Amino acid sequence: MRNYYLECLSCQKTYELRDDLSVCPECGGPLVPRTSKIENLKEKECTGIWRWKDYIPFAANITSEITLYEGKTPLIRGKKLEEHFGCGPIYIKDESRNPTGTFIDRGSAVLTSYAKSNNVKSITVPSLGDLGVSISAYSRHAGLHTTIYLPKTAPVSKYYQTLLLADSVRVRDNYESLLEEVKKIRLKHTLVAYPWDSRLIAGYRTLVYEIVKELRDVSTVVVPMGNGVLLLSVWYTFLDLGLKPTIIGVRGSKVHPVIMDISVERSKILDFAVSCVKESGGEIISVDVEDALEASYMLATLEGFMLEPVGASTLSALIRKALDPPVVLIMTGSTLKDPMMIEKMITRKRGRSIARSLGITKLRILEILSMEGSTYPYRVWKLLREYYGISIALRNVYKHIKDLEDMGLIKKVEERRQGKRTITYYSLSEPSFMHH
Ligand SMILES: [Zn+2]
Repeated sequence: MRNYYLECLSCQKTYELRDDLSVCPECGGPLVPRTSKIENLKEKECTGIWRWKDYIPFAANITSEITLYEGKTPLIRGKKLEEHFGCGPIYIKDESRNPTGTFIDRGSAVLTSYAKSNNVKSITVPSLGDLGVSISAYSRHAGLHTTIYLPKTAPVSKYYQTLLLADSVRVRDNYESLLEEVKKIRLKHTLVAYPWDSRLIAGYRTLVYEIVKELRDVSTVVVPMGNGVLLLSVWYTFLDLGLKPTIIGVRGSKVHPVIMDISVERSKILDFAVSCVKESGGEIISVDVEDALEASYMLATLEGFMLEPVGASTLSALIRKALDPPVVLIMTGSTLKDPMMIEKMITRKRGRSIARSLGITKLRILEILSMEGSTYPYRVWKLLREYYGISIALRNVYKHIKDLEDMGLIKKVEERRQGKRTITYYSLSEPSFMHH
């Protein structure tokens, strides 16, 4: 096994590979796993990313390897793109072919394997969409419990996928507030997986191993910026391999549902990613919806790839400017998987469609019921206002509750007499739907 350590991106202090460090104890900076120079990459006869076991930090602490056959994604030569741009070679690293459609699966494989091997029973994830979906899928496979926090602005397809895969889904107003809430969680046997978790980064490193194994002399790598974590992982892994390609970061210039995943709020991590790009001699390219659509159209008509605009957006870098070949475009995320299909899968058991009827108020009511166990309409009315600032007439609460009961999502559990009145208590009818 190689020797790995954690390096603080802020003060450059290094630490032994420890799992209790989520940030630098000295300065609070983010930590990335690193190693001394890797000379010869050798694959093992294993499945998924475990083919790179010898080069995965934390692998020494993993006894049970979880895989859904992530990684080993194709690096495809884009001859038609080369003709079109009059330069080449151009390669596409198609990360949308991972089990849940993004590179994140590489990280989830390491994270869940680590959890499984170290007595963790449950994983909590503050997510914008993809991270929660990926970790939930791997946790299902590993037999781990998941609680996923999503902002209510998450794309509906991500919401459905999470609902299908996670044990518990909690929807909050925005990413910042759910992050604050998650930071307060201290539960035994529970791991909170932030997007910058060093075990996720450990898995992301395998993307670079695969590129380098096939293409030693890559000059330019175009990476979707996202929250900056993939870009950091890519850059430091290249450095550990003794290579210094130019890194171009592509990011969404404004928030729009189509490209939301590449335009998250600025964060500390993102700032570090920007300095990596500068250090590599590259630059950041901002794309808007039109650019992303143009890229995905070009990719389909020239090369036959059907990638969603967000996934294809790295091609915008080439449309915008000449890049030093060989160029590798990392494409990731088929973000708009058919939500209606997934809705059908979720509702099959219930024999009724929930998609069209479940608005935010009903979701909140389900959340309240899952927190309270069983409760009565007046209390639901009160908590809707207290917890979520939703002020509606009491009779509308009754109506929502009736609808949810008709849909089979909640049930009457008890009737209590209070003076002349009868108070009806309700609870979730299917504990596995949204239990906590
Ligand atoms: Zn530090």
